Amino acid sequence: MTTFIDTHTHLDGEEFANDRPEVIARAKAAGVGSVFIPAIDVKSVATVLDVCHQYPGYAYPMIGLHPEEVREDWADQLDTMQTMLDADRNGKQEFIAIGEVGLDYYWSREYEREQLLAFERQVQWAIEYRLPLMIHCRKGQNEMVKLLRKYEQELVGGVFHCFTGNQNEAQELLGFERFSLGIGGVLTFKSSHLRDDLPAVVPLSRIVLETDSPYMAPVPHRGKRNESAYVADVMRCLAASYGVSDDEVAQQTNRNVERIFGIK
Ligand SMILES: [Zn+2]
Repeated sequence: MTTFIDTHTHLDGEEFANDRPEVIARAKAAGVGSVFIPAIDVKSVATVLDVCHQYPGYAYPMIGLHPEEVREDWADQLDTMQTMLDADRNGKQEFIAIGEVGLDYYWSREYEREQLLAFERQVQWAIEYRLPLMIHCRKGQNEMVKLLRKYEQELVGGVFHCFTGNQNEAQELLGFERFSLGIGGVLTFKSSHLRDDLPAVVPLSRIVLETDSPYMAPVPHRGKRNESAYVADVMRCLAASYGVSDDEVAQQTNRNVERIFGIK
């Protein structure tokens, strides 16, 4: 059986402080070949790197300011992150992506303008540092698409993480040819329309697997803490939806990850 990749897990979070080695061991036992860990703010860059250094060649770090973490100090946070990116470029080159970044107007539009400015600057980083984007977007697809179109030709690619939209929204995002949709636990929810909508308009060559753990646990773990091992449940559900074997989903999503992130 081919291994597969969890392209989005907050494994550095305090939810995993007491049993991170066991979580990693269960992921490996479930067939997870590697895990990608996004940062959410400056503080988290340190915790992400710390975990990645404990599991070299298995856990890979990203760097970025999450839209829900954008407040008055956003520009200072980005200045600090840019210093880290410069140091990384001239050193270990360990960051595999800019993320997670984007727009989130689900709770409030209090920092709408700041979120847009922070997102745009980080999109520019993706171009400058030749890194893919890990994009988080909730209630802001129109604004996000408009901004990305400005830079589309120059971007190396990326992932629209935690995709939960309809067929039209999927098609709009697939218009960004070097991007894929990140599919996670929502696919398995009883009420989810994704099991029909994805096979209708999204080729498997445009999907990567993710957990977004500790959040969004798939059925049959729904409501509990999510962990990377459960990406296997997402993979199996995706295979059933597309009417293909688990192994085919693993192999195709691995190819998609390699194309976007350069990691096998
Ligand atoms: Zn996330």
